[in-house]
Amino acid sequence: MTARPYIVGNWKMNGTRAMLAEARAIGRAAARFPGIDVGLAPPFTLLHAMADEVPEIVVGGQDCHASAGGAFTGDVSAPMLVDAGARFCIVGHSERREFHGEDDAMVRRKAEAALAAGLGVILCVGETGAERDAGAAEARVAAQLDGSLPRSEGAAARLAIAYEPIWAIGTGRVPSGAEITAMHRAIRARLVALHGEGGAAIRILYGGSVNPANASELLATDEVDGALVGGASLSADSFLAIVGAANGLIAA
Ligand code: PEP
Repeated sequence: MTARPYIVGNWKMNGTRAMLAEARAIGRAAARFPGIDVGLAPPFTLLHAMADEVPEIVVGGQDCHASAGGAFTGDVSAPMLVDAGARFCIVGHSERREFHGEDDAMVRRKAEAALAAGLGVILCVGETGAERDAGAAEARVAAQLDGSLPRSEGAAARLAIAYEPIWAIGTGRVPSGAEITAMHRAIRARLVALHGEGGAAIRILYGGSVNPANASELLATDEVDGALVGGASLSADSFLAIVGAANGLIAA
């Protein structure tokens, strides 16, 4: 575990203004855990209000367009996220890759656009169940990193990687600790190869069915620097239990 664990909730396409109460509760409690970086990525519609009302946490976008502006109906650019109060952006989530046809080159352009706008970036990578069964998980993730990792000057300092096996997202299934450690070590090796010393300090989060019951064990796994949490981030109680688990590990 890194000196500063990073625990980020991804609300996906969930949440109306009524759910800001959960975010405010998370913010109030997060102030009790100054050693943890706590983030939430709500839908675009809640970004500005959440950033305004919950200053104790970092608020981010779930995606951004690769261009700063223009005729792209329905899209949101990285400078717009900054204007709304975002401080980071998730790129390359498997749901974007699957449902919006985003390939590695597109994900890399989005990551560079987010960095250029001054945002931190959480770059998601992960293999399918079939790729893991075929023994191709590490090769798949290495290829995703080679194709989608931003390379611009200073990128490493504002980058985090989320290793999210697609078969573990929303399924209640998680890889073994040994599988996670092996994958995070392989990711670290690619990060150092591509970013030198800066790559050694990039936080590598685990994502996929993290919940209050398994958070301590997953976060204590070697080479895990935090978590990207989907379903369990939708209630303050369950998300804060995960933040508390991270705090217990750094306090131990
Ligand atoms: C995710 O989609 O980023 C995720 C980790 O979801 P869940 O925690 O619900 O598996």
